[in-house]
This record gives sequence, C-alpha cells and structure tokens, in this order.
Amino acid sequence: SSEALDGSVALVTGASSGIGEATVKALAEEGASVALAARREPQLRDLADRIEAEGGDALVVPTDVTDESDVQEMIETTHEEFGRLDILVNNAGVMLLEPVEHADTDNFQQMVEVNLLGLMNATHAALPILQEQGQGHIVNVSSVAGRQASTNASGYNATKFGVNGFTEALRQEITQDGIRTTLIEPGVVDTELQEHIPNESAKESIEEWVESMNPLTSEDIARSIQYAVTQPQHVSVNEILIRPTQQQ
Ligand code: NDP
Repeated sequence: SSEALDGSVALVTGASSGIGEATVKALAEEGASVALAARREPQLRDLADRIEAEGGDALVVPTDVTDESDVQEMIETTHEEFGRLDILVNNAGVMLLEPVEHADTDNFQQMVEVNLLGLMNATHAALPILQEQGQGHIVNVSSVAGRQASTNASGYNATKFGVNGFTEALRQEITQDGIRTTLIEPGVVDTELQEHIPNESAKESIEEWVESMNPLTSEDIARSIQYAVTQPQHVSVNEILIRPTQQQ
C-alpha cells in the first residue's frame, strides 16, 4: 500500500520519550524513514527496533542538542544515511519551572540552550539541504507557554516565545523557496516533562493541575504534526494551538 510520506525522510529531536517518540511512530506509519535524536541512546535503540520490526526504516543519532557540533553531525548523518531530509521536527525541550527570585541560573541556561538555541542551530544546519532540494518542512514544538506567560514559567516562557518569533521570521524568509514551517503549541500533555521540575512547590502545583483534568496524550500531538506534514505542497499549516478541552 502507498502512504503519504513514502520516500520521505524525517528527523525528530527529543525522540526518546513523550511527544517525540509518538511523532516518530506516526511519521513512520505514514511511510517516512525516521532519524531519532536525543541523549538517551537505549530508548532510541528500543524505538528504532520496534519501527524496524514493523518494516520501517529507522536510524539512531545520539545527540545533545546543546552541543553545536553534535547538532551539525545529527543533520549530516541523517542526510548521508538516507540521502535526503524532508522533515525536521524540533521537539527536544525541558521545562524547569521556578520563580525568578529563587531560580538557579544554570536552569535558565539549560532551557535556552535546549529549547531555543538547539532548535535554531538544527534549523540552521538543515536549511542548506532543504534549499537544495527545493522542498522541506520544519516543525517547531513550542507551547501554549509560547503565547501566554505565567508564574514560575519565566525562563520557559522566554524560550517558547523565542521559538514563536524565530519560526515566524524563518517562515517569511523561506516559504517562497517551497519550504514550510509549522509551529505546534500544545497545552497540558501527559509526559515526563513535569518530572524534571527543580522547584518542589512549582512541581506540586503543576502536578495538581494536570491531575485536575483529562490531559492530552503524546499521540494527540503526534496526530497534529502528522496532519501538518501530510498536506499537499501548496498548503502550509503555519500554527496549531491544541489544548485539553478541560484546560482553561
Ligand atoms: P519529555 O520529557 O517526554 O521529552 C523531552 C525530550 O527532549 C526527551 O526525548 C529528551 O531526551 C529530549 N531532550 C532534553 N534535553 C535534551 C538535550 N540536551 N539534547 C537532546 N534531547 C534532549 O517531554 P515532552 O514530550 O512533553 O516534551 C517535548 C516537547 O513538547 C518539549 O519541547 C516541550 O516543551 C513541549 N511541550 C510539552 C508540553 C507538555 O505538557 N508535556 C506542553 C507544551 C509543549 P533525552 O533526555 O534522552 O535527551
């Protein structure tokens, strides 16, 4: 049977869990060859094995997106191994919530380096390949937090607002070259993201909030990415804001 992404190559960062993992599966099911990037290699290997067991093509590219040479290598390895690069999903992210007053500035730095600079550098490294193909799609995973600021989220808000600004400027630069951009802005999704929050009270209040509703699943977000990247070439889905129905 023929699928929408047969012959396409997709690279997903943050593929070792949550939204990234679900996105890899969804794109592989559409026929894309998939490259899996993150730091935790065993998780990537396990996911790649599952995809290959179902007849798909998967490549593991262990990557720390805060390391610029790792990012360059991630793009080059994917391109060399599969011969092209059609879809880059910049999904790797951390959410280290804490009030500014008590913030550990290392956490500010980590959020900027993963959520924002990592995404910018991956985009920069991929662009020449997409330009040469005259076609490509960059999907940037932002957040409701890229549009709405809130207490404890200052650093996270700064990075996600940054992702939104970067993506819109990028869109204006490259859309006439046939390269599409999509900004994905999820509300609350049940993943490992909350587990890394350093500030106990910020962590507790988020956990309570998540438990008060029926949150989105990673698969809900993967479907929105799948939708955006399987549209005909003349259709550019620029932005998808998606919240749990119970999220205010
Ligand atoms: P997870 O914690 O499950 O996934 C985060 C992913 O990012 C992991 O695969 C992790 O892999 C990867 N990552 C973190 N640091 C690095 C790094 N330095 N280099 C490479 N990869 C890294 O959470 P989600 O799936 O929820 O998060 C995915 C994206 O969705 C993030 O950008 C997040 O901000 C966004 N989002 C999530 C929401 C939610 O409610 N869950 C809401 C809105 C947006 P590893 O540790 O193996 O490196």
